Amino acid sequence: MSRPIPEKLVEDTARELMARAAIDIPADYRDGVRKARECERNRIARFVLAEMERNWDIATADRRPMCADTGLPRYYVRAGNEAVIEGGFVALERALRKATADATASIPLRPNRVHPLTRRDHDNNVGVHAPEVTYAFEPRADWIDITAVHKGGLFGTDYRMLFPTDGVAGIRRFFVDTLVEFGKRGLACQPAIVGLGLGGSKDTCVRLGKEAACLRVVGSRNPEPAVAALEEELTALGNYVGIGAMGFAGTSLVVATHIEVAYTHTGGLPVGMHSFCLSSRRATARIHSDGRVEFRADPMWFTDYYRREGIE
Ligand code: SF4
Repeated sequence: MSRPIPEKLVEDTARELMARAAIDIPADYRDGVRKARECERNRIARFVLAEMERNWDIATADRRPMCADTGLPRYYVRAGNEAVIEGGFVALERALRKATADATASIPLRPNRVHPLTRRDHDNNVGVHAPEVTYAFEPRADWIDITAVHKGGLFGTDYRMLFPTDGVAGIRRFFVDTLVEFGKRGLACQPAIVGLGLGGSKDTCVRLGKEAACLRVVGSRNPEPAVAALEEELTALGNYVGIGAMGFAGTSLVVATHIEVAYTHTGGLPVGMHSFCLSSRRATARIHSDGRVEFRADPMWFTDYYRREGIE
């Protein structure tokens, strides 16, 4: 029997993750933006990207958030099948909510979360269904992985139900339409990591698109060759439409395209699309049953088990 992971350890780790996500840009995304700047031929777009890199340096040096807009802080939790949490998952959720409220005051983070109608504000980024916690599981493991994501970008997200015969051409069309709709006004703070969820039900493809954008590192490829080829093609296409960083003319709209698939209704091809903005904020920690905590930049969210196709 694994030793229970203390609630306090979950809370302390989550608070640290909130800070790391807000302040330290992941190296893989930074590297992608550097490459985009080196290829960018438009002077103003190049200037924006250089200034962004400078902004990240200042944020890290001053231990202050890289963007004044917190976005929406949320968590992804992967629990090993043998993991035990002191107080159970109710305690884990309490720890994550407490850490969010504490981090909002201590970092500080802008308290973005409000009631959608009354605009009631607890001033701590906690409320009904806030922060979101998404769960996944892993066999033969007694650790829990927690990933904090500060998902920015009020815009740049869309959904479309295509017909199967629309195929790749329809996916391309939706991809370009969405990029242009938001990109020409700089609404999604490009260049972004674009995530596409293909298939599943409507909610599944929207969820997968967000996870593809936020939980895969730049440079990763979907293990299915046809999907990986489409990722490459769409990245090139996105950088061909003529929009660069922050909506200026240029070639730096998409740092990477990540696609995840789910088996879907034979009569449809639903697509969900998300942009992980210029502040692509994520941080992960693994909490072991012996109390060790390992921080890392790669969420390692899309495991073989998570993408399993058969019964086991
Ligand atoms: S989209 Fe991202 S970079 Fe732009 S203001 Fe929002 S959080 Fe900041």
